[in-house]
Amino acid sequence: MTTDRLVTRRHKLVQSLRKAGVAALLVTNPKNVTYLTGFTGEDSYLLIGPNLLRIFSDSRFETQLQDECPEIPAEIRTSRTTMIEFLVREIPQFKLSAVGIEASSMTVAIRDALAEKLSPVELVSQTGLIEELRQIKDASEIEELRMAVRQAESGYALMKSLLVPEMTERQAAHELEHGMRRFGALKAAFEPIIAVGDHSALPHYRAGLRHFDESPFVLCDWGAVSPKGYHSDLTRVWATGKVPPKLHRIYGVVLNAQQAAMATIRPGAKCQDVDAVARKVIDQAGYSKYFGHGLGHGIGLDIHEGPRLSPISTDELIPGMVVTVEPGIYLPGVGGVRIEDDVLVTRDGYEVLTSVSRELEGVIS
Ligand code: ZN
Ligand code: ZN
Repeated sequence: MTTDRLVTRRHKLVQSLRKAGVAALLVTNPKNVTYLTGFTGEDSYLLIGPNLLRIFSDSRFETQLQDECPEIPAEIRTSRTTMIEFLVREIPQFKLSAVGIEASSMTVAIRDALAEKLSPVELVSQTGLIEELRQIKDASEIEELRMAVRQAESGYALMKSLLVPEMTERQAAHELEHGMRRFGALKAAFEPIIAVGDHSALPHYRAGLRHFDESPFVLCDWGAVSPKGYHSDLTRVWATGKVPPKLHRIYGVVLNAQQAAMATIRPGAKCQDVDAVARKVIDQAGYSKYFGHGLGHGIGLDIHEGPRLSPISTDELIPGMVVTVEPGIYLPGVGGVRIEDDVLVTRDGYEVLTSVSRELEGVIS
């Protein structure tokens, strides 16, 4: 990643801080620290303001900081000082009357301890300032997301080539994670969901001990983390035998819902409306009460981030956003279908980043 991109991100944040009336922000969410600095370690906080940039870390990360973000002045504490004591000692030198804190990431315990000891410097809760910037990906982030998709898809193809009927969900999950890593992923984006038969009706099932030959279909929800920490997220259902007609039917409905919703993705489209398009297809087929979750979410340094495609979302699509589109129908005791792809909002529409076949048919070799 070039330093220019990081400078641009920090510049945009400083503009947001000005708008929010905050002199400086103490960034404690590690993903946000990474986003603004390129530093991928933990336990390090960034203080940022119009003419202020300082990272507070400890000696474990000294070399890594020099490697990953040499342009950012670092204050390194020793093991004799806690982070709170360190901040209380360091922050007053910047003569700030108030410091913004990330309310979604800082614990109440740390906030209280800091507020007491930093007084009269006031701590002002802020939410979403960096998360909002993160919704729109720059070219380097889109490249990382493409890589995360490729790694997920290559790992998936490898896993499928290794499947045998007597294998369990958990063994397949292991092959999938291993496969993604073989193709360069840092790790799995989350514990893969591999659900044989009616296990697929549980939207957040993991992977258990059921064997592939115990049912004629499987749901697989998985993703990879690219080397710089970007997440892909896909779901496919495939047949391992003769699929019951009911499942066949809901598969067709979910696929139609997904394709109809995707076709409406463009700059300016309301996320709520995109969700509504898919929901309408599912409602009209008579399955409204079996689609309980939102249609999709942003992906990036987190597996779930903004914008949200859901009935209560107030977000609007902007070029550079990358979202999942993942309608589902879950029939308890029968089975569930979800089809999930990753979609980039472009200047004039959308590009589907994922390319795994959406055919239901597919056999274990
Ligand atoms: Zn998923
Ligand atoms: Zn998802």
